[in-house]
Amino acid sequence: MAGRESVKVVVRCRPLNKKEIAESRKPIVVIDTAIGSVEITKAGTDDTKRFTFDSVYDDKSTQRDVYDDTGFPLVESVLQGYNGTMFAYGQTGCGKTHTMQGKDSPPELRGIIPTSFEHVFDHLKLLKDKEALVRVSYLELYNEEIRDLLGADHLAKLELKENPEKGVFVKGLRSVVVDGVEAIDALMAQGNAVRTTGSTAMNAESSRSHSIFTIVIEMSGKREDGTEHVTAGKLNLVDLAGSERQSKTKATGARLKEGIKINLSLTALGNVISGLVESSQKHIPYRDSKLTRLLQDSLGGNTKTVMMAAIGPADYNYDETISTLRYANRAK
Ligand code: ADP
Ligand code: MG
Repeated sequence: MAGRESVKVVVRCRPLNKKEIAESRKPIVVIDTAIGSVEITKAGTDDTKRFTFDSVYDDKSTQRDVYDDTGFPLVESVLQGYNGTMFAYGQTGCGKTHTMQGKDSPPELRGIIPTSFEHVFDHLKLLKDKEALVRVSYLELYNEEIRDLLGADHLAKLELKENPEKGVFVKGLRSVVVDGVEAIDALMAQGNAVRTTGSTAMNAESSRSHSIFTIVIEMSGKREDGTEHVTAGKLNLVDLAGSERQSKTKATGARLKEGIKINLSLTALGNVISGLVESSQKHIPYRDSKLTRLLQDSLGGNTKTVMMAAIGPADYNYDETISTLRYANRAK
């Protein structure tokens, strides 16, 4: 079972945005990066709630600050042959995609996903006497349906299968061998473009889907006695659907059904992670959602997990922010 140390929970609070400043919204979140605390006060009251996490990031934090504490150790362990997963959780508009993806320029705005590409290939370039094979796949989970963001037909629904040899896998998911940062960057961009157009075609919002970018690194080398030695590590970078509750968005019909399924995956993920950190819990409910089934081999056991919870600072988001902090707190 995973020990406490293998699940890291961090919180990042974005700055007030232009609209919030124009509307004179008050910041109600106080971040203390030195001690890892987040305090939130209900506007007009002295009701302050305090949480602590492994790391917290305020509005001055850079993409590099976040990478150094979260992506960096994950990639290092994947290069050693372990599996690892990083999730971005939170209300829409709070910085999940900013943290995971970021912007291409200026380069310091590149997020966890592209920065991890550089990290992986910088490491592989220095390898001697070893061969490495890097493969990527990129999928979207929407309404408990799996779609391939790199596939020929991105509207086709793919099936989740399981067999003793491969474990849990997505049948027909495209897996592409990449030889460097340029190639993997191009695939990421291709997938992102499909994600946007795909959500329009399905009359869905991309904020309602989970995306999983997976990098598999296989390395082979010879031991001193001449025998072959192979390691394989898998890194999953997950931009989760917005965690906002449906009551607030007044969803009905198809939208409401979709919301229930999103919450099902997010709830199942919360239950799996809290089960892993609760060392007394023997049964981990991976089978409760496609998200947790898909990631089963990268959650628990010898794997590392990072949960990044993104929050906003403004008063009107109090309920959502508290709910995100509670979710993150359960994962500690
Ligand atoms: P989400 O993916 O959670 O819906 P986004 O990452 O798209 O949210 O962020 C919404 C907006 O806020 C974007 O314009 C993004 O650039 C900006 N933003 C988010 N986090 C930060 C941050 N830490 N610093 C500056 N801008 C941010
Ligand atoms: Mg987003």
